[in-house]
Amino acid sequence: MKEQATWPARRRREWYKSLDAAVEVGFGEPEWTTKVTLIFSSRPVLGIYALCEKQDWCIGLFPEAAKMGSTRRVETLIHELCHLTTAGRHGARWKLGMLRAATRAQGLGHRRLSEMIRLDVEDYQQREVDVLEVTAQLELMLTYADRSDYSWIRSAVADWAGWGVKEFEQEYPWFPLLYRDIRATLRPRT
Ligand SMILES: [Zn+2]
Repeated sequence: MKEQATWPARRRREWYKSLDAAVEVGFGEPEWTTKVTLIFSSRPVLGIYALCEKQDWCIGLFPEAAKMGSTRRVETLIHELCHLTTAGRHGARWKLGMLRAATRAQGLGHRRLSEMIRLDVEDYQQREVDVLEVTAQLELMLTYADRSDYSWIRSAVADWAGWGVKEFEQEYPWFPLLYRDIRATLRPRT
């Protein structure tokens, strides 16, 4: 994800403020606020608000996320921070991290935030996804996402579908072929 300067400075500041809150509520490890970089993408990707890249401690935010209110911002960042500190995608460890954050939020008196985190976990039970939906999502991502390399796109689609990457590959063994076909039909980007 490339850094884009198109988000207003005020919005970017709000997100960094929410990051402080997310770390405090979710984890209580203040050094994280300087370790994590937020990237403000100007390209929309349907159905995705935020993504993270583990090695770089980056959280990418997509334009739809700009409309979020403060509680939703904190919740979204807690969701991504839980990915940064656990293996896999929305598996058991991620859920455990989220539920711990929900408990901590409640203890600190943030009841609405706590409820939002719990609902997010419930939403991420594995969905049934059919080949047409995956194809449509893949097309959208290859057209609009800042990156189109296979592993990035695969993680993004798996995440969208609510699966871990390994499970996703087992469930959709035809995915690499589809990726190649769709990429070949799209015009090269300038
Ligand atoms: Zn996620």
